[in-house]
Amino acid sequence: MKLPQKGGCRCGVVRYEFTSAPHEMLNCHCTDCQKFTGSQFATLVIVAAADFSHSGDVTSYHWHGSSGAELEQNFCKVCGTAAFGFGPDRDYRVIRAGTLDDAGWVSPNFEHWLKSKKNWSQQLDSTDKYLGPH
Ligand SMILES: [Zn+2]
Ligand SMILES: [Zn+2]
Repeated sequence: MKLPQKGGCRCGVVRYEFTSAPHEMLNCHCTDCQKFTGSQFATLVIVAAADFSHSGDVTSYHWHGSSGAELEQNFCKVCGTAAFGFGPDRDYRVIRAGTLDDAGWVSPNFEHWLKSKKNWSQQLDSTDKYLGPH
């Protein structure tokens, strides 16, 4: 993995970068991640907040997680992409891996919140796989 790593939203208004190796990488199956992504889980890259910066206007949504801690998700005001936010620990930024310019190096270390894992997550290995448009 090269540093800095860069990424951004779908429309390009919001850009971000980080300059130190990720603290951890995971697949999060919590219901918040399922809502934000509209999918079965989010692949998250956790980086030191001190080594993270972004440009472009974002709007912020705050809520309280199951621990009671305030969480924050940031969205591009134009296209709505939820590229990054804060988890319970404000020393770290939570980045959604699919928003990286190059996510090929991402390798989740663990699965989190498996108690809300969707049944269809378990079906991936037994379904047909499509590499692209068909
Ligand atoms: Zn955008
Ligand atoms: Zn989650």
